[in-house]
Amino acid sequence: MTRAIGYAALDPATPLQPFPFERRALRDNDVSLRIRYCGVCHSDLHSCRNDWGNARYPLVPGHEIVGEVTAVGPAVTRHRVGDRVAVGCLVDSCMACPSCEISHEHQCEAGSTGTYNGKDRVTGELTLGGYSDHIVVREEFVLKVPDRLDLARAAPILCAGITTWSPLRRFKVGKGSRIAVVGLGGLGHMGVKLAVGLGADVTVITTSAGKTADALALGASAVLLSTDREAMKAANRRFDFILDTVPVQHDVAPYVRLLRPEGALVMVGAIDALPSFHSGLLLGGNKVLAGSAIGGIAETQELLDFCAAHDIHPDCEMISMQDINHAWERMERADVKYRFVIDMASLEQDRA
Ligand code: NAP
Ligand code: ZN
Repeated sequence: MTRAIGYAALDPATPLQPFPFERRALRDNDVSLRIRYCGVCHSDLHSCRNDWGNARYPLVPGHEIVGEVTAVGPAVTRHRVGDRVAVGCLVDSCMACPSCEISHEHQCEAGSTGTYNGKDRVTGELTLGGYSDHIVVREEFVLKVPDRLDLARAAPILCAGITTWSPLRRFKVGKGSRIAVVGLGGLGHMGVKLAVGLGADVTVITTSAGKTADALALGASAVLLSTDREAMKAANRRFDFILDTVPVQHDVAPYVRLLRPEGALVMVGAIDALPSFHSGLLLGGNKVLAGSAIGGIAETQELLDFCAAHDIHPDCEMISMQDINHAWERMERADVKYRFVIDMASLEQDRA
């Protein structure tokens, strides 16, 4: 076992605080990595606040992890000490079911193991995530960070990136696609960059007029204010595909109306009840309303390689671990440009 230091929520109401704990001794197929940077996902906040009713405490969040390998178990073949590596939202799965066989580990029929708030498959212990100085993970769930990616700006690819990439690929977004991204936050801004990278024409639909210039700079060709009824009406039937990243319960009908016939709206945000929704909105126009959760390991590696090849880096605002509670307050006000990333060197201050 090794001593670790991280930040944990001890209950749904109190701020995150320094939390010393033990990481497991390396199993034969484990990799230990020093965490250099960890992105801050809105799901970290939902989880710690117990918004989804399944939180177990102490909860150390963080599933956008990048760093370097410091030790490997004797059976590890994929990674070596010193390699630049990453861990996303998953640290294990059954590896035998039909989903795992096609590298859809996140859809594991036996249930995949989350990087935090999950249950270790061997000991049953609670998994503790990336707001910490190091982590021990089974080698198959450790990804390679290509040399051309800047480590300090790569972390958000591991969740914000893959969560938007996976539905873009599934619905074959590419050259000639006219799409919209709803909500310009961590996920949304990656959705824009990746869709532009795939050759699509992208509109940002936002509640924040002040984000217009940023949306265009990210590569969007247009911006639509969701509060502008006339502009929304004028955009009726405009898009082949819409990615909805809004983190709170909301009415999707105004967005479904913006789909062309055969178009698809994919929800990746807020896990909540849909307010009353008339099915006629889908039937007329053969429209698809779908959901999507993160992505598998192979697809995440494909994305890291795509980002390296296309020089796509998330827009990161670097913070110290000690700033996390303030960063969360800002995230709740939609004041993020466009992903907070924690510099784990700052944890030294809490090691006393
Ligand atoms: P975020 O950085 O906070 O961004 C969310 C954006 O949504 C905000 O910046 C804002 O953009 C918009 N928004 C906020 N409140 C809104 C409201 N009341 N009405 C309409 N728009 C609003 O969050 P994130 O990290 O991107 O995560 C987004 C959601 O995806 C969260 O619910 C998160 O838990 C979820 N998530 C899902 C998966 C998955 O696997 N499906 C993975 C990761 C995260 P504008 O200012 O442009 O309006
Ligand atoms: Zn996330």
